[in-house]
Amino acid sequence: AILVGRRVKSRRKWNRVVGVLRELEEGCSTSIGRLRQVVDAMAVEMHAGLASEGGSKLKMLLTFVDNLPNGNEKGTYYALDLGGTNFRVLRVQLGGKNSLILGHEVERQPIPEHLMTSTSEDLFDFIASTLEKFVEKEGNGYIVPLDRRRELGFTFSFPVKQTSVSSGILIKWTKGFSIEDMVGKDVAECLQQAISRRGLDMRVVALVNDTVGTLALGHYHDEDTVAAVIIGTGTNACYVERTDAIIKSQGLLTKSGGMVVNMEWGNFWSTHLPRTSYDTDLDADSPNPNDQGFEKMISGMYLGDIVRRVMLRMAEESDIFGDATCRLSEPFILRTPLMAAIHEDESPDLREVSRILQETLELTNVPLKVRKVIVRVCDIVTRRAARLAAAGIVGILKKIGRDGSGGVMSVRTKTGEPSSRMRRTVVAIEGGLYASYSMFREYLSEAVAEILGEEVAPYVVLKILEDGSGIGAALLAASHSSSSVGSVT
Ligand code: BGC
Ligand code: MG
Repeated sequence: AILVGRRVKSRRKWNRVVGVLRELEEGCSTSIGRLRQVVDAMAVEMHAGLASEGGSKLKMLLTFVDNLPNGNEKGTYYALDLGGTNFRVLRVQLGGKNSLILGHEVERQPIPEHLMTSTSEDLFDFIASTLEKFVEKEGNGYIVPLDRRRELGFTFSFPVKQTSVSSGILIKWTKGFSIEDMVGKDVAECLQQAISRRGLDMRVVALVNDTVGTLALGHYHDEDTVAAVIIGTGTNACYVERTDAIIKSQGLLTKSGGMVVNMEWGNFWSTHLPRTSYDTDLDADSPNPNDQGFEKMISGMYLGDIVRRVMLRMAEESDIFGDATCRLSEPFILRTPLMAAIHEDESPDLREVSRILQETLELTNVPLKVRKVIVRVCDIVTRRAARLAAAGIVGILKKIGRDGSGGVMSVRTKTGEPSSRMRRTVVAIEGGLYASYSMFREYLSEAVAEILGEEVAPYVVLKILEDGSGIGAALLAASHSSSSVGSVT
């Protein structure tokens, strides 16, 4: 009788675990109907953000980039890429038409964690000294003849209110950075000052968001590229908008008639988003509550922690992990790359899952059926993230009339001619999460195709780029260089 009682008890507990899973599944539902609502909401918010300052949670920031690199850029340019988990220094050699990028060198370095919450001077001194060391190595082998001052593109992946293509003020921090004295300061000037403090002869000629760098490189290689998306530690998108659609800056004129707009879509919000109690809790515990709601459901900084929260809840409802729930209550202990490894474990006995559970969470002897539940949790969380990002992308296409909603036949070409074919549209995508998580990529492209439908989907190309944000900043430095060699006409 005792044995039977125990079995009943354990079945009841298991049922509770299954209950948590079911509830999660329902809460994260991204039916095609719901995705369409997100698409529409994204397009509506884009309009609102362009109509007036503060008109939407989407900031729709001007970038002052009105011409994208076209291949004529020539010379050696530098770039700094700051904003995610790693910090990069690059040197890019541009050969002009037909030879394009002759070569590039990248140096990656993790950002020391204490610098993410210190002072702007500490952070920029670190950046400038890394840059200095990189430049000093020029003597060894890779020699660049320089008959002029070195010029630099700075990729700074946070919301910046640009005052020109090479200056702008930090609006707020995201992704766990929090250096209070920086907010409201000119980012390029901070860097320029740190460079001068080190006695380096170098000038910041372009200040760009990572999405804009990625769009620049995407367009450099393929002129049909009209938008760029980052899915890494954080998430965001930018695209080319017509200046006459940017109502909030009436009278804005550019030679090309367009300008790249940094959407800051990480802050997008809509009641149609499938939000769970885990998301609400994660937001409340974050350093930026009520901010970056879309980002917190999609990007690499957060996905692993959503999974951890679900596992913790399961542990609280039952004893599936034994008594050792302590590590599960440590915020951010389950990093997203590990979550991806759990999700993509293809061994029949889920050996990799066991290893990670043991090494990271100190959970030993977790039974196979429980490990399967954990894999399922990762799947649900990632699928939701990827499908929401897909809806965001289609939202942009809808805003610029490239979603085929006017019918494949009715799309007009640049010159206004009705075209018999829909135009090919390329979206450049970069970011560690997207690049290294194949299930995420699959879910995303599947959802884009599902929303667009089979007639339109073939015209929309998602192109993955590596180091695009950095190389793109060097390209933009070239096209905004003070020497005429690199300028775009
Ligand atoms: C920032 C964006 C950035 C994105 C991807 C977000 O947290 O606000 O400016 O583009 O992360 O790095
Ligand atoms: Mg990055």
